[in-house]
Amino acid sequence: MKMKSKPAAILRVFGWMAFYLLLSAPAIILASPDSANSFVIRGARVFDGQKLLAPTDVWVDGGKIKAIGKNLKVPSTVKTIDAAGDTLLPGLIDSHTHAFGDALKEAEIFGVTTELDMFTDVKNMQQIKKNQSDGKLLDWADLRSAGTLATVPGGHGTEYGFEIPTLSSPSEAQAWVDARIAEGSDYIKIVIDDFSAYGSHRPTLSNETLKALIDAAHKRGKIAVVHIGNQQEAHDVVAAGADGLAHLFADSAPAPDFAQFAAAHHIFVVPTLDVLESISAIASGESLTTDARLAPYLTGDDVSSLKRAFPKFATAPSEKYGEQTVAQLKAAHVPILAGTDAPNPGTSHGASIHRELELLVRSGLTPTEALAAATSVPAMTFHLDDRGTIAPGKRADLLLVKGDPTQDITATRDIVSVWKLGVEDDRASYRASIEKAKQEAAAEAKAAPPAASAVSLISDFDDGTPSAKFGTAWDLSTDSIAGGKSTGAMKVVDGGANGAKHALDVSGLIDGGLPYAWAGVMWAPGAQPFVPVDLSSKKNISFFAKGDGQTYRVLVFTTSGGRIPAQQTFTAGPDWKKTSIPFSAFNGTDGHDISAILFVGGPAAGKFDFQVDEIRLE
Ligand SMILES: [Zn+2]
Repeated sequence: MKMKSKPAAILRVFGWMAFYLLLSAPAIILASPDSANSFVIRGARVFDGQKLLAPTDVWVDGGKIKAIGKNLKVPSTVKTIDAAGDTLLPGLIDSHTHAFGDALKEAEIFGVTTELDMFTDVKNMQQIKKNQSDGKLLDWADLRSAGTLATVPGGHGTEYGFEIPTLSSPSEAQAWVDARIAEGSDYIKIVIDDFSAYGSHRPTLSNETLKALIDAAHKRGKIAVVHIGNQQEAHDVVAAGADGLAHLFADSAPAPDFAQFAAAHHIFVVPTLDVLESISAIASGESLTTDARLAPYLTGDDVSSLKRAFPKFATAPSEKYGEQTVAQLKAAHVPILAGTDAPNPGTSHGASIHRELELLVRSGLTPTEALAAATSVPAMTFHLDDRGTIAPGKRADLLLVKGDPTQDITATRDIVSVWKLGVEDDRASYRASIEKAKQEAAAEAKAAPPAASAVSLISDFDDGTPSAKFGTAWDLSTDSIAGGKSTGAMKVVDGGANGAKHALDVSGLIDGGLPYAWAGVMWAPGAQPFVPVDLSSKKNISFFAKGDGQTYRVLVFTTSGGRIPAQQTFTAGPDWKKTSIPFSAFNGTDGHDISAILFVGGPAAGKFDFQVDEIRLE
């Protein structure tokens, strides 16, 4: 959901995060289906997608479920898996994700065998689908995707640094929808979000264009799913005849008749409660990182994302509103689908479905209803007739867990095995590779700092250049890497702090197009940007600043903090003033893995000009 400012859904990923995501090319890993692969899982409780069956046997053959029953008689060549005490479920379906990079591989590790993507790079989508149809990627969750999304020029969805086709009027709707279908979109995703829920503003589609898009999708037999930012937008979207809401709102408590209204219009809802927590400044996924059933399978990037939330918005959205709305929707029998909106802050692919299930139960669904929200309900809603239930003839996309998740929903985390089309996921190798990567990262973080860092001065600019005593020189950094239009300039000027010769002047123009717009200067302590250096022998960063009176930001990147920097603000007035900020103020870092420090203007639009000098670590 959100972020960025707000929206909710989607892409709310900060520009930096989108930038990062664009860099991670999918690693195509092939596995071949083994049509001779036949096995019988004996004695597990079976959650069939709707209800729990007494312990029974399930026979898988040729990638499909061949038979279900007690004491099934199978040929002696068929392998037996004794699963007494365990529970077998359909592979989970995550009904709201953004499938960049190797997200789908990660998803399957955690039992998600189908992802319903709600906006990704079209070429990425096409490549994955081609591999899937060639019988490859059996260790990746199956992908269904909206491809790109419908938004106005400058609207939410356009801020991620890559061009997407936009539209502005009802007359463009049918051609826009038809072009998506030609690209391979399985359904149509529309964004209605003026960002007011986040105290910001973006242009958005008119209700007339919204309605035209929905009608155009329906004319071609496609489902229309809509991202909204606030309750009024949700109401408008329901009234316009959309099939589903890709998120709930967190700006206000639901009107008493909201769910009745939704039910009367036969809409389904993917609440994405985890991201509603994240936009409410709660790190939704944090508890997953210490759950011993999941933690060994989480990458360093997963952990930093799960521990993150969106910054506090002035409008103070609350996840409680989302939970109240879910309770109301349940009472009105509105279909509820489990979706995570991974990889937004507070989430990661696969792992977060287990948090979303927990939150759905906290909102009033029974564990059995929550499990249906991640299996049979999305399969029925999205017409995926070959999955979502355990029955003869269905795909052998299966999840075997210890315990009984219909009693304790968190039992879904205690994974024994995951199969896609009857091929078991190699979770042990994945776990070993994660363990190895973590050891290497720990060794790297402990690497000795450059000798020069024993000196506390980073830069005083008195040699007339933007050089530093160690690490990189100061250099410009702007949001252009995230698709922004802010510009900046830097130069060493006369008249430093405390009567010194020189200082560094930083000026520019912040463009309002990105919620997290920035322009300024960056320095990295390592030989190159984003190589972490252990600066934990220091406790503070201090500097002198003066300027036009506006408020500016210090951004600190750490490896453990992931893609989004921690930030603190300072004001640059007419006279030189010293500011000293403890490392701990930057999301609690101890300085052991600092990879970059920036002084920047933004995100408020407009011209800026400030000077910094005597930048030190103390
Ligand atoms: Zn989303």
